[in-house]
Amino acid sequence: MEFRLSQEQRLFRQTLRDFCEREIAPLARQIDTERSIIPDQLLEKMAEIGIFGISIPEEYGGSAPAGEEMVYGTIAVHELARADMSMSLPVYALLCMGWGSLIVKHGTEQLKKEILPRVATGKYFLGIATTEPTGGSDVANIRTSGIKVGDRLIINGEKIFISGVREAFELRDGGHITLVRTDPEAGHKGFTMVFIPARLPGATYTVLDETGRRGLSNGTMHYQDVEVPEHHILGQMNRGFYLNMEGFNLARILVASACVGMTERALEISRDYVRQRVLFGRPLAKFEGVSFELAEDHARLEQLRIYLRYTAWCADTLYKEKDFISQRELSRMVSICKMTAPKIGAEIVQRCMTHLGASSYMKECPLGSALQGVMSYLVGAEGGYHIQKLIIAREFIGEESVPYR
Ligand SMILES: Cc1cc2nc3c(=O)[nH]c(=O)nc-3n(C[C@H](O)[C@H](O)[C@H](O)COP(=O)(O)OP(=O)(O)OC[C@H]3O[C@@H](n4cnc5c(N)ncnc54)[C@H](O)[C@@H]3O)c2cc1C
Repeated sequence: MEFRLSQEQRLFRQTLRDFCEREIAPLARQIDTERSIIPDQLLEKMAEIGIFGISIPEEYGGSAPAGEEMVYGTIAVHELARADMSMSLPVYALLCMGWGSLIVKHGTEQLKKEILPRVATGKYFLGIATTEPTGGSDVANIRTSGIKVGDRLIINGEKIFISGVREAFELRDGGHITLVRTDPEAGHKGFTMVFIPARLPGATYTVLDETGRRGLSNGTMHYQDVEVPEHHILGQMNRGFYLNMEGFNLARILVASACVGMTERALEISRDYVRQRVLFGRPLAKFEGVSFELAEDHARLEQLRIYLRYTAWCADTLYKEKDFISQRELSRMVSICKMTAPKIGAEIVQRCMTHLGASSYMKECPLGSALQGVMSYLVGAEGGYHIQKLIIAREFIGEESVPYR
């Protein structure tokens, strides 16, 4: 049993930490203040050190460490979130990484050649579009339709709360892996996942005003008779429900890692503050009301960090050893991470803010925007808090616990 990161992985982490402290941390406040304004130059530098290529094999322009993509991905996202605690930049990167991985695994050769080299540059945004106004949690209820006509899918419908719309449609270029209904009679066996480039005739978007994560846009997308070539379909027609689960298994590990990285940094900020802040004649750290909270929170985060690393390793191993575990077993572990990381993160950041007092409430301090950022993952992004419990219950208790059957 080997729990250490390998020498290469530790070197990668150190390189990234230096890069993030030098290039990202000084821009973090600006990224969170001005909307949708992650600088192109920064994306270029991130691409140069290989961040956007982590899940993409060399033959498609990436630098994937074969068989260790998720472990490397979690390291990268962790470091990004330490530097940009508002989470905008980590989310931009993790969406490209996680959903890029699904294209690597299930895209047609033509699609991989068209899209992946551009994703690896960091300037072609790749996102996910499942949520609709009828409710994001009830995925089986989505209405956006895809009708096969010749060698095209004709898409009609609407998606909402989608990350990266402005980046994909206007600021740069990009597109979203989109879940559409292709057989209305077949229940959950009637969905297909298809990559839809943003700039197709009939596709339009609007931007919504988010309270946090303001460096990355969020909005609605509308499709009116949008024609998508059939080589953009991922996997087989009508297998989209299962691919959706697989994609979320990858993306949610990265999400949890972003939450852990951000929370680790929040605890360090609080630790540094209570060491030097003198009140009632002694450092704040001498008061157990403060130091015991920090000790507890450090312990909670350590446990989560190790379990998350194990889950990332399981995800990598699943693709190397076919019978290792099933996607459903992996979902249970991933949902434990996705349920826990934003919850613990939000609780810990709030306690850290309390330790810092009023200075935590000023814009100079990153803890306020960190709290807004992490809340996005508690209220719903990449699947709501309670939905993770549904998945864990389904796998632990069994089908008896499933409310929708
Ligand atoms: C910042 C941000 C970015 C996002 N980016 C994307 C994106 O890029 N692509 C995309 O497709 N979607 C995105 N989403 C949407 C996200 O996927 C949805 O928020 C999520 O699926 C929940 O859907 P909903 O918001 O419609 O809430 P609802 O489905 O209406 O659920 C409301 C609440 O009820 C809970 N709930 C639901 N069912 C049950 C149940 N059976 N038992 C108990 N509780 C339940 C949910 O956990 C949630 O807390 C984003 C959301 C946010 C906030």
